[in-house]
Amino acid sequence: MNKCMNCGSDVQSDANFCPVCGKPVSAADNSAQNAAQQNPVHNASVIPDTEPKSRLLAGVLGLLLGGLGIHNFYLGNTTRGVIQILVTCITCGIGAIWGFVEGILILCRQINSDGYGRPLKNDC
Ligand SMILES: [Zn+2]
Repeated sequence: MNKCMNCGSDVQSDANFCPVCGKPVSAADNSAQNAAQQNPVHNASVIPDTEPKSRLLAGVLGLLLGGLGIHNFYLGNTTRGVIQILVTCITCGIGAIWGFVEGILILCRQINSDGYGRPLKNDC
């Protein structure tokens, strides 16, 4: 005896269709095989294969040059670094506090990943 994949009824082994619901008994097996044969999705990796970024260097860069977004360029946050430069220029330097605070957050382990989501190297 086989089981109907559609309604669960018992079906004769030599029957091609379920006597209760009329569905082809072997249909479910075929669809499962087709699904398994589909190509797996390839996720193209855009993360550069480099050493983990230094927390100490990123933090010090933020403290000293935060207004220029240097630490964000170092961490791969290019867009944020560019915005930081613009904010510093527009605010005549006041906006540099943003980068300075980020430097503190990096050193205090409140920021723990680089621009690619990889953990920072805890060298301080
Ligand atoms: Zn059935």
